[in-house]
Amino acid sequence: MPGLHLDVMDGSFVPNLSYGMPIVAAVRRLTKLPIDVHLMIQRPQNYVRQFRDAGADNLTIHVEAVEDPRPVLEQIRSLGCGAGIALNPPTPISRLEGCLDLCDLVLVMSVQAGFGGQSFNPVALDKLRQVREMVPPDVLLEIDGGISPATITQASAAGAQLFVVGSAIFGKPDYQQAVMELTHLATPQPV
Ligand code: ZN
Repeated sequence: MPGLHLDVMDGSFVPNLSYGMPIVAAVRRLTKLPIDVHLMIQRPQNYVRQFRDAGADNLTIHVEAVEDPRPVLEQIRSLGCGAGIALNPPTPISRLEGCLDLCDLVLVMSVQAGFGGQSFNPVALDKLRQVREMVPPDVLLEIDGGISPATITQASAAGAQLFVVGSAIFGKPDYQQAVMELTHLATPQPV
C-alpha cells in the first residue's frame, strides 16, 4: 500500500527537530495518498487532534514517550484516525502488552528514532516475528529505519507489511524505479 510517512520530531523526545502540523497540512493538499504521521514527540496527547485536523490518516506515538499509551491511542481512534504504537530498538516488546488491543499498527524501529541514514539493526526482525504472534492479522506491522534493497526482503519475511524508506529512494536518481525495485523485493516470491 503506497503512502507517505511523515517524521515529526520535537527536539526533546529526539534531539532532532523537523516540522509540525503546517507541513502535514501542506502535504495533505498535494495528495490523496494515505498520510502516516510518526510522532517522535513528548506529550503526543496534546497534539493528536491538530495532526488529525491537518490531514493525518494514521498517527503513531512512541511507547517510550508516554506513561500510559492507552488513553492516547483511544483518543486517536476516537478522532477517526488509525492508531499506531512505535518502539525503539532497545525497548522490549513487553512494553506493548496492555495496549495492543487499541492498536491498528505497530511500528518496529530498526534504528533509533530521530535521524535518517542510520544502518539497520537486525533486532527488529525478531521483534517483528514476536509482535506478529501477539496481534490479530488485521493489525499492520511497519518497519522504519535502514530499509534498502539489502534489508527489505528480510523485513518482509519477518512479517512487516509497511516499509518506511527514505535514503534508499531519495538518494537515487530515479525515485519511481527505486520504489518499483523495493516493492518487488518486499513481495514474497513463489517457490
Ligand atoms: Zn518514521
